[in-house]
Amino acid sequence: MFADVIVDINNVEVDKIFEYSCFGSTVQAGSRVVVPFGSKVIEGIVIKTKEKSNYSPDKIKPILRVLEDIPALTEETLELMEYVCKTCYVTRAAALRLFLPSEMRKGKVKDHFVRYINLTDDINVEEVLLSMRKSAVKQKELIEYLKEKGKSLCTPLSDRFGASALNTIVKKGYAQITKEKYLRSPYKDLSTDKKSVSLTPKQLLAVNSVVNTDKTVSLIFGVTGSGKTEVYLNLINKTINAGKTAIMLVPEIALTPQMLKQLRARFGDNAAILHSGLSAGERFDEWWRLRNGEARIAIGARSAIFAPVENLGLIIIDEEHDGSYTSESSPRYSTIDVAKFRAQKNGAKLVLGSATPSVESYLNAIDGEYNLIELPDRINKKPLPEVEIADMRKEVRRGNNTPFSSILKVELDECLKNGNQAIIFLNQRGYSKTVICTECGHVQKCDSCDVSLTYHREDDALLCHYCGAKYKMITACTECGSPYIRYGGTGTERVVDELQKLYPKARILRMDRDTTQNKEGHFKILSQFANREADILVGTQMIAKGHDFPFVTLVGILDADMSLHFSDYRSGERTFQLLTQVAGRSGRAENAGKVVLQTYSPDNPVLRYAIKYDYINFFKQEISVRKATAFPPFTDVVRILISGEDDEKTLAVTKAVYEDLSIIYNLNRDKFRFFGCMKAPLKRLQNKFRYQVLMRITAKDRELLDEIFERADKYKTRAVSVFMEVNSNNLT
Ligand code: ADP
Ligand code: ZN
Ligand code: ZN
Repeated sequence: MFADVIVDINNVEVDKIFEYSCFGSTVQAGSRVVVPFGSKVIEGIVIKTKEKSNYSPDKIKPILRVLEDIPALTEETLELMEYVCKTCYVTRAAALRLFLPSEMRKGKVKDHFVRYINLTDDINVEEVLLSMRKSAVKQKELIEYLKEKGKSLCTPLSDRFGASALNTIVKKGYAQITKEKYLRSPYKDLSTDKKSVSLTPKQLLAVNSVVNTDKTVSLIFGVTGSGKTEVYLNLINKTINAGKTAIMLVPEIALTPQMLKQLRARFGDNAAILHSGLSAGERFDEWWRLRNGEARIAIGARSAIFAPVENLGLIIIDEEHDGSYTSESSPRYSTIDVAKFRAQKNGAKLVLGSATPSVESYLNAIDGEYNLIELPDRINKKPLPEVEIADMRKEVRRGNNTPFSSILKVELDECLKNGNQAIIFLNQRGYSKTVICTECGHVQKCDSCDVSLTYHREDDALLCHYCGAKYKMITACTECGSPYIRYGGTGTERVVDELQKLYPKARILRMDRDTTQNKEGHFKILSQFANREADILVGTQMIAKGHDFPFVTLVGILDADMSLHFSDYRSGERTFQLLTQVAGRSGRAENAGKVVLQTYSPDNPVLRYAIKYDYINFFKQEISVRKATAFPPFTDVVRILISGEDDEKTLAVTKAVYEDLSIIYNLNRDKFRFFGCMKAPLKRLQNKFRYQVLMRITAKDRELLDEIFERADKYKTRAVSVFMEVNSNNLT
């Protein structure tokens, strides 16, 4: 027998299939193996086994070892890997990395075994104790302990009674040691609330609609608090009962514990969690529980779409519009596309849920490609919280230079006085967004990026939010030496500061990337707030999604227009989604909620629709703009990003790519709405100069994309990288 093997080296030159001979029947498609490669011995994965080889026997080297009894990859995931290679333009080895926990490659983490000791079954303890020497006190104590407690972990007993006592009773045959696999399971202390509810008629209709439709994809368009989660749980239950498996995705790691809690309450150990915030061992064990069928529900953020489950019956993508579902690092896969692929392969259902569906998904729904399900009312019949606009231009004219409008202050007073909780949202971490010299106007910038630095007071340092570089805070302007420095733009650190000044007694928590660095960091802050150990939660978009805090009656949105003025074609959509999500955190239980939205452009139509929660009219406007300006979903935005440390070389490559692609452009003018070449919006990042060839292509034309990619890819060198992306979320 022979095997086609992909070796675990992410390099275009070895992105081929290599043949090896197998020495037995244990080699299966999907098995991880160790093979000789050149002068080295490396890991690889078998993608196919076959009877005949194309090479003469003396040319073929043998597989040295098979790493696990069960093949790590299933047939379906092998196909999926090919799909990712083709659609994301990456090597097979790079695609492979999505499917295996990184710890598993190179054997960094293995099964964890622990030793147990237990008395031998057939001994008579009384007789044994009598027969022992008087001086063997520890041994006797240990035997008595085991008699009373039964099988116990070795390590603590060895500490307590001494290793020699333990070894001796084993040697004499009075006790025996067994090695057992120990499962490292994450979030052990998570409480499980077992409240079971019966579905409302609308929820029941939603469940039945997903089950009965002949369409693969269903879009549940339901306002925040309309009970979508309950619909998901019900569908999962049906899937499991039918003997199938399910994948449930949420947009942020921070939201996984909350969902896990609900899944564990209903499905116990059947739920396994996969995300990058777990420890290596935990991830490894959870992955294997799914792979060998012990767990049949995978929950996680984006990457859990690659969960190693077989016989998939259901995939749920909650908050489907969320930007996090498109990977920002290579391979830049679209989670929804991968989900569609898996659903189709398995004959499974894909459920997309959102209060603010992406423009593309909603268009698919009204065009009839998706099954559209609507949940327009909140479960508790409470109206969505009222939104009041605070015009910050007027506040500034009045001389208010704090981050809070007078309306927000009045509402905060009221909220805290009544013992309720408030959420203050601002999508900017750090103390101040920029540091500016008041004499010469110089803005402090990163040495390696074309980006202004953010002041972080906690570290008393200037940070580059793009490359992570950290600089000492300046005491004088680096240009003119003036000591007069001004802070420009407010960040979450400063908001906490100012709030504490206004409300010295209030307990305030901050949640942003800086306060959630360590493992389970999100989880701690959120549970503190949920347990009412704090009155105000200040945070970035991390706090916007999904969380259900019944005592929150006020949400303050400090800078609603922040994301409106990006040049990205999606900025209106993103802003609408974010504002609706944040507003939805207020008034979820008994007490009516309120939202104060601060803005410098109160007449902006996106904000106008957002404060009325008017998705439909927002959609109508947005889709007509996209159509008129030829942006997605009516075109594909294709960017070739060219970057390198040498500006001239990079520019030369850019021109060469541009000229080469011009050939395609000239042959297919009818398919192009735009074709151009320019500096990237972020001109320099991590010491690399950045240029782009930008295209908008009208027809969804895979072949044309492939041709563009193949041509551009040839210009890639060690010094200059050439990177292609389609409809990326981030065109900086
Ligand atoms: P969504 O996910 O749409 O924002 P949730 O599923 O979180 O909404 O539901 C909002 C609230 O309503 C939750 O507190 C949930 O426990 C409750 N809920 C959902 N369905 C029911 C039901 N059928 N009966 C009673 N309460 C429900
Ligand atoms: Zn200066
Ligand atoms: Zn930088």
